[in-house]
Amino acid sequence: MVATVIPVDPFDLVIFGGTGDLARRKILPALYRRLRAGQMPKNAHVVGVGRKVLPTEAYRQIAASAIREFVRREEQDAGSLDDFLRCLTYRNVDVRGREGWSELRELMCTDHVRVFYFSVAPSLFSILSERTHDEDLATPDCRIVVEKPFGHDFASARTLNTEMAATFDEHQIYRIDHYLGKETVQNLMALRFGNALFEPVWNSQFVDNVQITVAESIGIGDRGGYYDEAGAMRDMVQNHLMQLLCLTAMEPPAQFDPDAIRDEKLKVIKSLGPVMRKDVVRGQYLKGNGGSGYLEECGNPKSRTETFVALKVQVDNWRWSGTPFYLRTGKRLRSTLTEVSVAFKDPRHWIFDEHGNRKGTNLAIRLQPNEGITMRMTIKDPGPGGMRLKEVPLDMSFADALDEGTLTMPDAYERLIMDVVRGNQTLFMRGDEVEAAWSWVDPIILRWSQDGSVIHEYEPGTVGPIESLFLLHRDSRYWREI
Ligand code: NAP
Repeated sequence: MVATVIPVDPFDLVIFGGTGDLARRKILPALYRRLRAGQMPKNAHVVGVGRKVLPTEAYRQIAASAIREFVRREEQDAGSLDDFLRCLTYRNVDVRGREGWSELRELMCTDHVRVFYFSVAPSLFSILSERTHDEDLATPDCRIVVEKPFGHDFASARTLNTEMAATFDEHQIYRIDHYLGKETVQNLMALRFGNALFEPVWNSQFVDNVQITVAESIGIGDRGGYYDEAGAMRDMVQNHLMQLLCLTAMEPPAQFDPDAIRDEKLKVIKSLGPVMRKDVVRGQYLKGNGGSGYLEECGNPKSRTETFVALKVQVDNWRWSGTPFYLRTGKRLRSTLTEVSVAFKDPRHWIFDEHGNRKGTNLAIRLQPNEGITMRMTIKDPGPGGMRLKEVPLDMSFADALDEGTLTMPDAYERLIMDVVRGNQTLFMRGDEVEAAWSWVDPIILRWSQDGSVIHEYEPGTVGPIESLFLLHRDSRYWREI
């Protein structure tokens, strides 16, 4: 199968923070791969910006080494790399200061789509919005891209939104949650709204429970300073898990249109019930399995920051009332896995003598590893010997279904950056969505700080604290395996 590549309009993309970790690991490799796929026009122009004084040639060397390090070997070729490096320029500008802006402005083409990627610390977002405007770089049609974390609570998110709104319209602001750029996330919408099969049973009458898991086998690495201020709730639940929850639970939008979709997602967040104390379990990983414990890694022996959280959540609306959504995320767990799983109820009347090995019909939508969809179905065990039942998976890996030999799945950043150039906000969070997510999460975090709730320790390489298992056992349910 050959991927359809529709080239985007010529663009100028300024990466503020062009030498940083995110630019090297994600943004530059994504652009290189889009150029190689034929989607990035040859006259597109990418400008890396940082405070360091660097000639463009040195920046091109930084970009070349990033491509060599972060792009798969089979996707590297000298011709594409040369073409890509020719698109790059570097300018040193301290975004807090007044120097260097006119040199940056001179690089902009008037007839190109203009994108400013704020790949710098969030504390610089406001000043950067102001400067791009005051220094005459911003145009009414330009776009800005901001990375998570978007605020650390409702108040800070609102302040950021207000400050950016002073310079940019909402239709110009692209708040990235890279989970939304994954193929499977969009497939969740295709699956639900493009097949008559699922939508009629996608409700509390037929669905027993929904589980959303984002498990990581790695620890916090060198992000200790940031992570200890954030924790799993702010780092993962407020954004990634909430977005997956919204896409799973939302009503069908009237049309596939960015605002119609975001309106429906917002309604889901607004229908979330308050989470009771007994419905949250938080944990912190210990030393073991060949690695240090969280307290050692974060450098704060008294830290009460959670590296694991599990929650039972109620979506209090007509469709979902009575069907719990269980969310769980953690670091240093048994494996790295992101999936949404929908467990259907048993048939109302059971006509067979036996139950076989049934655990119930189950649909699992995997975001990583190996993006795809698995459905467990009950069938008759083949062969003579009566009506014996058995559960089998109907497994679809997207890579296999789409023939990985000819079509490699684009990384989330490739899709998202091209969507920014196209002006399509479907896969980006709107300001009111982000604020609503914070106002749901804030009371949970506040309660932890006020009541000194327990943090359960867990051994690395496991499924997290045992108390998270009880969260489901007490409802006579089980987590899916990590
Ligand atoms: P980083 O490695 O620390 O890089 C920061 C970049 O910003 C560097 O290029 C730095 O260059 C530049 N910079 C810093 N202060 C500046 C100033 N006053 N004026 C102009 N440039 C300045 O950070 P990062 O990991 O790439 O993260 C960038 C953003 O993405 C952050 O908001 C982060 O939270 C977010 N994010 C990162 C990741 C990730 O995987 N890295 C994932 C999700 C979100 P100079 O030192 O030369 O100025």
